Amino acid sequence: MTEEHPSGPYLDEARRFSVSRALAQDQGPLGDNPYAMALAQFEKAISHLKLKSGVIDTLRYPKRELSVAFPVVMDNNEIRIFRGYRVHHSTVKGPTKGGIRYAPSVTLDEIRALAMWMTWKCALMNLPYGGAKGGVLVDPKKLSMRELERLTRRYATEISIMMGPESDIPAPDMGTNAQVMAWIMDTYSMHKGFSIPAVVTGKPIEIGGSLGRGEATGRGVAVTMREAMCIRGISPDQARVAVQGFGNVGSVAALQAHEMGLKVVAATCSTGGAIKEDGLDVKALMLHYDAAGNMKDFPEADFITNEELLALDCDVLILAALENQVTARNADGVKAKMIAEGANGPTTPSADEILKERGVLIVPDILCNAGGVTVSYLEWVQDLQSFFWSEDEINRTLENLMLKAFQSVKDCSAEHKVPMREAAQILAIQRISDAIMIRGIYP
Ligand code: NAD
Repeated sequence: MTEEHPSGPYLDEARRFSVSRALAQDQGPLGDNPYAMALAQFEKAISHLKLKSGVIDTLRYPKRELSVAFPVVMDNNEIRIFRGYRVHHSTVKGPTKGGIRYAPSVTLDEIRALAMWMTWKCALMNLPYGGAKGGVLVDPKKLSMRELERLTRRYATEISIMMGPESDIPAPDMGTNAQVMAWIMDTYSMHKGFSIPAVVTGKPIEIGGSLGRGEATGRGVAVTMREAMCIRGISPDQARVAVQGFGNVGSVAALQAHEMGLKVVAATCSTGGAIKEDGLDVKALMLHYDAAGNMKDFPEADFITNEELLALDCDVLILAALENQVTARNADGVKAKMIAEGANGPTTPSADEILKERGVLIVPDILCNAGGVTVSYLEWVQDLQSFFWSEDEINRTLENLMLKAFQSVKDCSAEHKVPMREAAQILAIQRISDAIMIRGIYP
């Protein structure tokens, strides 16, 4: 079944350009459409490249999409139907890789955009993967553990025609976690008759997960943020950092920043957060947030809303919540000297333009948050070889790969005189295009 969404099954040429225009002003429902955003970024990057038009068209659209509707027996014995998706954007570099998101607001266009960004991210990091993403329209907080398990096992079965250690390897994203990955791995293995740990990453250590995977995205955010601070001339001993989103990515990035000696002055979750001028105790805030599920009443700190956080006078703003946070409507109010995009798609293309004019340096999502998929790759390799590395080895490899990718984006940005987002996409798209041309078009 197909969900109704603003763009129809595909954005055709004419529609796409009207989408780009709507985006330029961030108006109308399409202004928030992540797939339109991803396409607008794509159009910008390819203007610097000499690609065949057929290759460009191939990359505009996902290679394949699966839309599922499936029943789940709830604890009260009622049967509820849930909808979900799995999208593969490109398979030219290898099996597809991408997370699974559980959220009531999931749309097919959101999953398409996230799959496309995964293709660029993996290519940028030189990982032998294409991009994918999946999602189920559900609020996991409203399900019991047994309901969540049944939903996950059924969704895993529905998408198993697209999933496999050599074809498509999911991982956690918003609303899913290591336990959800364990259920997916177990379901897939039960169908095959033997254990196949390499079918998902982000699993618990006990069943083939990698040391360091849980913190990898936040660590990568901190490494790229540190490098970008050097470019922007922000001295670590004076830097004031604000963090939007205090989940897996944001809390680890904040802790890493704190451990590097930076002052984390504010952090928020979906219900607002905490601000303290002389710096928050990040570890204590993590414990408080874990226990209370919000940041209200965190001792010795004041309350701050998300709108206030985005406009806070600080040096570094880490965006680690969700898409569409800095838009044409609020970009003028951003006072940070640089933004580190821990989340996927937190800055719209029109906000990019405003921030560029104002000299705000953006470490783009496909570089900044690539630590997660990088250690997922290391987890997959460890599962395939049945030989596991120490946490030190993982963290060192992660840092080396992040630094290498950062340098290549920095060089490309200088060569083409473009912001880092465009540079990262130029590099990634060129690599994918080269792979398509070398392989040739079948048959
Ligand atoms: P999470 O569910 O662990 O945390 C999300 C956090 O954002 C929570 O603290 C939530 O309260 C907060 N939040 C939600 N809406 C908000 C709002 N409007 N304002 C402020 N805070 C808000 O999710 P996560 O795994 O940390 O992922 C966060 C982002 O990072 C997502 O965009 C995800 O796609 C991206 N990402 C995650 C990983 C990973 O390894 N987890 C890897 C790459 C990218």
